[in-house]
Amino acid sequence: MKGFAMLKIGEVGWVEKDVPACGPMDAIVKPLAVAICTSDVHTVWEGAVGERHNMILGHEGCGEVVEVGSMVKDFKPGDRVLVPAITPDWNSLEAQAGYSMHSGGMLAGWKFSNFKDGVFSEFFHVNDADGNLAHLPSNINVVDACMLSDMVPTGFHGVELADVQFGDTVLVVGIGPVGLMSVAGANLRGASRIIAVGTRPNCVEAAKGYGATDFISYKNGTIEEQVLALTDVKGVDKAIIAGGSVDTFSSVVKCLKPGGKIGNVNYLGSGDVIDIPRVEWGVGMGHKQINGGLMPGGRLRMEKLGALVASGRLDVSPLSTHVFEGWDKLPEALQLMKDKPADLIKPVVKFAD
Ligand code: NDP
Ligand code: ZN
Repeated sequence: MKGFAMLKIGEVGWVEKDVPACGPMDAIVKPLAVAICTSDVHTVWEGAVGERHNMILGHEGCGEVVEVGSMVKDFKPGDRVLVPAITPDWNSLEAQAGYSMHSGGMLAGWKFSNFKDGVFSEFFHVNDADGNLAHLPSNINVVDACMLSDMVPTGFHGVELADVQFGDTVLVVGIGPVGLMSVAGANLRGASRIIAVGTRPNCVEAAKGYGATDFISYKNGTIEEQVLALTDVKGVDKAIIAGGSVDTFSSVVKCLKPGGKIGNVNYLGSGDVIDIPRVEWGVGMGHKQINGGLMPGGRLRMEKLGALVASGRLDVSPLSTHVFEGWDKLPEALQLMKDKPADLIKPVVKFAD
C-alpha cells in the first residue's frame, strides 16, 4: 500500500509499505476522507514528537472497515466508521483511572502518526476496534465526519477542562478550528458571553456563527488589558486556550476571576517554563485552576459527538474551507496547512462520497 509519510524531520514524501496486520481486537480501515491538522505540521516541521523515519502521517479521518479481528463484536467489513485521533487501550490502568489518553504513558493514547503509522494511507490499523470506532451516522458526509476525529473532541475537551457552566463569561484564546469548536462547545454549555481572541477574518466570521459575542486581537495590545476593559475590570469566569504560546498563560491568569478555571488544549512547542503571575494568582491563594489535556478519544465520545452533528445541533461544515479529491492532492493539502493562508480553516482530502 502507499502512504504519505514524514521521511524525517522537515521532509515528507510517498512510501510503500505492507498492509498492517490485524490483531484479534483490531480493525483495518481504508479511509473515505482525511483531514490535515496543525499537529501534522508541528510533527513534521517542528519535530514535535521527535525524529521519525518513514512514518505515515495523519490522525484525522473516517473510513470503511475492511477487516476485523476474531474478538471484534460490533464492526464488520463494509461498515463506515468515525475514527478518533486518540485511540486508547481501554483495558489499561490509566484508562481505568479516567485518563484514557495517557494509556501506556504520557500522551500515549495518541498513536496515529506518533507511535505507529497514521491515516494518510490506503489502509490503516485501529487498536481496540470495539472501544475506539463508532458507526458513521448516515446523514453525516465524509468531510464533516473528519471534523469529529479531533477538532470537535479537542475543542470540546477545552470546554470540559475549563468547566464551563450556565451563564459563564468565557474567554477563548485562539479561533482556529480547535478554538472554534471551543466557542461552539461553550455556547452549547450555556455561556452568557464568549470573548474570542484571533485575527483571521474567516475565523472571526465563523466564531460569530458559533456564538462568540466579543472579539479582541492579540496584535492590538495585551489580552489581559483588552479583556479587563471589556468586562469592567471584573475578568472572566473561565478561559480556554487553543492558540498562542507559553506566554499566553500569564495573560490568561490575569484575565480570570478568583475561582476561575483555564482549559488548555494548545500544543506548547517551545519555551521551558510557564510563568504564573504571583499577584494575579492570588499570591498563591486565588483558586485559579490551570488544566491542560489531550482529548480522551474512544467510541463513546465519537458516538455522542457524532449524534450532536447528526441531529443538526452542531454544524461543522464551516470548518472545511478547502476540500480536495484524490490521493495525489494530499501533499498540496498538507503544504496548505503549513502555509496557513488567511482564508484557510481546515483542508480535507476525500477519496469517496
Ligand atoms: P490554528 O493555528 O489554526 O489557530 C491558532 C489560533 O491562535 C488562531 O486563531 C491564531 O490567531 C491564534 N493565535 C496565534 N498566536 C497567538 C497569540 N500570540 N496569542 C493569542 N492567540 C494567538 O490552530 P488549530 O486551531 O488547528 O490548533 C490549535 C492548537 O491545538 C495547536 O497548537 C494544535 O497543535 C493543538 N491541538 C491540540 C490537540 C489536543 O488534543 N490537545 C489536538 C489537536 C490540535 P490568528 O487568527 O491571528 O491566526
Ligand atoms: Zn488533529
